[in-house]
Amino acid sequence: MTTTHDIAIIGAGPVGGTLALALAARGKRVLLVDRADLSPMEDEAFDGRAYAIAAGSRVVMDWAGIWDKLPYAPCPILDIDVTDGKLGRAPSPLKLHFDHRAVGDDPFGWIIEARSIRIALNKRLHTAENLTLRAPAEAVVERSAEQVRLRVGAEEFTAKLVVAAEGRKSPLRDQAGIGLTRLPYHQTAVIFAIGHERPHNGVALEHFLPGGPFAALPMTGTPEHPNLSAIVFTERDATAQTLYGMTEAPFMAEVEKRLGNRLGRVELAGRRWLYPLSAQFAARYYDTRLVLVGDAAHGVHPIAGQGLNLGYQDAQALVEILDGVEDPGAPEVLRRYQAARRPINMAMLMGMDTLDRLFSTNFPPIRLARDLGLAAVERMPRLKKRFMLAAMGR
Ligand SMILES: Cc1cc2nc3c(=O)[nH]c(=O)nc-3n(C[C@H](O)[C@H](O)[C@H](O)COP(=O)(O)OP(=O)(O)OC[C@H]3O[C@@H](n4cnc5c(N)ncnc54)[C@H](O)[C@@H]3O)c2cc1C
Repeated sequence: MTTTHDIAIIGAGPVGGTLALALAARGKRVLLVDRADLSPMEDEAFDGRAYAIAAGSRVVMDWAGIWDKLPYAPCPILDIDVTDGKLGRAPSPLKLHFDHRAVGDDPFGWIIEARSIRIALNKRLHTAENLTLRAPAEAVVERSAEQVRLRVGAEEFTAKLVVAAEGRKSPLRDQAGIGLTRLPYHQTAVIFAIGHERPHNGVALEHFLPGGPFAALPMTGTPEHPNLSAIVFTERDATAQTLYGMTEAPFMAEVEKRLGNRLGRVELAGRRWLYPLSAQFAARYYDTRLVLVGDAAHGVHPIAGQGLNLGYQDAQALVEILDGVEDPGAPEVLRRYQAARRPINMAMLMGMDTLDRLFSTNFPPIRLARDLGLAAVERMPRLKKRFMLAAMGR
């Protein structure tokens, strides 16, 4: 027997899962397939990974019904400090300071534990109306001008549109022959959380160093660590490997070297994770009855924590464009989605790339120019306001 759906989504990661729930909430019949086992409750242990979620990304999380179900409170980002530095020297005094009150009462965004999103998402995916979930499972997908046929184990499904939300190594994108450009950074991020002596007061720090950016992001405390921050410590590949393998005391000494006295004494909370960094972008966002969303379409440098935010904005645009259309896989509908998302995502990707290259150098004239640039922007309230609205996803 063949079951008919409006839209099939392959990949139930944060983007595919949220998109599936948001479409189902608007009455679309959705088939969602993931090869991973999405047990209703993921491992509950604190693991130190977190996302910076821009204010604008909350919209689609609300549509999906997951914002109110996050089991661990998100921590609002109230202020952002951007500093430039050189190891062994104090951060440059010419820093940029962004205060959320300059653009309204809302925070810039929130730091949310990765497990919090996963738990909220997985619970909803198992109970939502209009949603058929198959996981762990893989789909064999055949696309034609009229429809999409999917075989999942012994089951057969049809849909009008298939969405590739399979992350960076998207098989559907590759099968469609959509070209991919990759930009390697030769940098690796060490991700972890720290407990610290002084409160962070909701201030995020983006500290640019020659080896790569070092970010300290405010998290909601736990009973064990009332003052808690997520750290993204980017370094050249070999240095990152060394940092990852260090015992806690010398590793925390390296962290303190970069943080200065800002947060007082620090200790490791949870484990360390290693992520080799690269950027990539797809040449097109659609093919016959196929669209790409999230990391399947674009992967950006995590310098400003925008990767998932761009994916959430893809999902929001697709939900809006598909609202009320008769055939969700019609070429003009898919073209509209590409026109809405690709230029914005490309601009963000190029912006992040330029920032990384600009700050990952010790060449004195460039150091001086960017310090003067930071100081100049600090004195331009209008420009600062535009940066702040962009960071909020508005
Ligand atoms: C170091 C680092 C820090 C980051 N920090 C931030 C941050 O602070 N804020 C932010 O916004 N973003 C951040 N990002 C980016 C963010 O992690 C990604 O953008 C996000 O995970 C993309 O979500 P996705 O759902 O598109 O893909 P993924 O999370 O990769 O999910 C893909 C899903 O598809 C499934 N899948 C894959 N292939 C198949 C298949 N053939 N069949 C079925 N299922 C399949 C997988 O099992 C998975 O569930 C960071 C990234 C890195 C590397």
